[in-house]
Amino acid sequence: MVHEFKVVLVGDGMTGKTTFVKRHVSGEFEKRYLATLGVEVRNLKFYTSAGEIHFNVWDTAGQEKYGGLRDGYYIGANAGIIFFDVTSRLTYINIENWYRDLYRICEDIPMVVVGNKIDSKDRRVRAAQVRIPHQKNLPYYEISAKSNYHIDLPFLCIAQKLLRDSTLHWTKQPDYIPADIVVDHGHLRAQQEELEKLGQSMALPGG
Ligand code: GDP
Ligand code: MG
Repeated sequence: MVHEFKVVLVGDGMTGKTTFVKRHVSGEFEKRYLATLGVEVRNLKFYTSAGEIHFNVWDTAGQEKYGGLRDGYYIGANAGIIFFDVTSRLTYINIENWYRDLYRICEDIPMVVVGNKIDSKDRRVRAAQVRIPHQKNLPYYEISAKSNYHIDLPFLCIAQKLLRDSTLHWTKQPDYIPADIVVDHGHLRAQQEELEKLGQSMALPGG
């Protein structure tokens, strides 16, 4: 039995949405371009304890740089991933707007917030300053699309919510394109510890 879901990526331009979705190897083989909407849809396959899941991941061709996205982008979405870039405070502030736009059309779907580029030494939004996801009761993940760090966690969280199974896990690790850069693990550990100290350790799947 294959479960199929539409997942929309939202967030400011340059936050790493396209990089994130391109890391997943399966999506590169099954990619469709919806010219009327200016959208690229990739079919990402995941093998889980609850069966095979195909996420049709919707990514824009850059329209988010010119304001909001059309309703057709959101309609029928089963889940959403809201991006910001931890090196840009403005992209963090703007997640409020992306959340509002998504919520307007898809009130009741699972949503997660992702802070990307945590490999960067230019971090401007510290882990301790990330408040918006918690205020909205949304899971929050810190990732690095360039180094493949934690890039499966947003999908795992969504899968658990959509199938209402908090024990759902991968039965085969997703395949990724090799990392562009190697993460500095000391640097990442320090950030993780900062989150833990605040008692807001990232909502790890299963929790
Ligand atoms: P989009 O406009 O949201 O689709 O963003 P892109 O995926 O096009 O990425 C914008 C820029 O950020 C590109 O130059 C990427 O190489 C860079 N980028 C994306 N993810 C990361 C990351 O995890 N770390 C760093 N350092 N740069 C990233
Ligand atoms: Mg893009």
